[in-house]
Amino acid sequence: MDYQQLIEEVYNEVKSANPRGKVADYIPELARVDPDKFGIALVDLEGNTFGAGDFEVPFSIQSISKVFTLTMVASIFKDKLWSRVNVEPSGDPFNSIAQLEFEKGIPRNPFINAGALVITDALTSKFDDPIAEISKFIDELNGEACIKINQEVMDSELKHSERNTALGYFLKAYDNFENKVEDVIKTYVAHCSIEMSCVDLARSFSFLANDGYSIYGKREIVSESFARRINSLMLTCGFYDEAGEFAFRVGLPGKSGVGGGVASVMPHKFSIAVWSPELNEKGNSVKSIMALELLTNKLKFSLF
Ligand code: GLN
Repeated sequence: MDYQQLIEEVYNEVKSANPRGKVADYIPELARVDPDKFGIALVDLEGNTFGAGDFEVPFSIQSISKVFTLTMVASIFKDKLWSRVNVEPSGDPFNSIAQLEFEKGIPRNPFINAGALVITDALTSKFDDPIAEISKFIDELNGEACIKINQEVMDSELKHSERNTALGYFLKAYDNFENKVEDVIKTYVAHCSIEMSCVDLARSFSFLANDGYSIYGKREIVSESFARRINSLMLTCGFYDEAGEFAFRVGLPGKSGVGGGVASVMPHKFSIAVWSPELNEKGNSVKSIMALELLTNKLKFSLF
């Protein structure tokens, strides 16, 4: 399989179809991004890298960071985690408050905001400086230092974090939150404000294509069974209330962020990241989803 040719074909087809959406503006600083940016990077299990377009330009990874924090927590707390957060698709927007009330403070899954806040709370209990540990962990997954937190995006989201703060207090009311809400929100917003390029993301996701084993550090990041669980969760919950649609159209585990990124894996073959800032009404990148759909259609193999 000539991956370079494949992603260039996909890149050109998406560019000429040029489907449009709307850049996220509920975090005002995110709205300043150039809407025409578009990049694809693919990394195979030998560590060969293939790229097209803006694949080396760093962007705000936002909710894609939740895969990294879940992985960290998984490797620390093992199965204890699942008493605090469920593993069902939400079918609701990522920041729904109603659902958390209805389900008595146990978030539907670790990728909606309430679930990710529980995960960040667990990391806050464990580490004195959780954001430093999270950054170090992602750098290790990437095989070399790559993490930069965008201070403007972080300040901008912190100024508009009423909903996430409300989710934190709700969780506390149900006794599913150990630390000061404001402290956890700060760490959560900081990890959402991390900037990485498509190539960094594809590299950092490669352990999930490789049964939990790092192709860079040559060590187990999580057990094979936990890697399978993270992939299952990405397949069923990685795109919020559009997870079914993504599974139907693309058929790969993946995670989106409101910065317009999508990171995804074809287990035992490759990891891939796509970025284009314009989103559909569910908060997922229009061009990134189209690119991944074209890509899986062109492959001679599939997950299913
Ligand atoms: N930081 C964003 C938020 O909490 C992440 C949302 C996302 O990427 N879906 O709203």
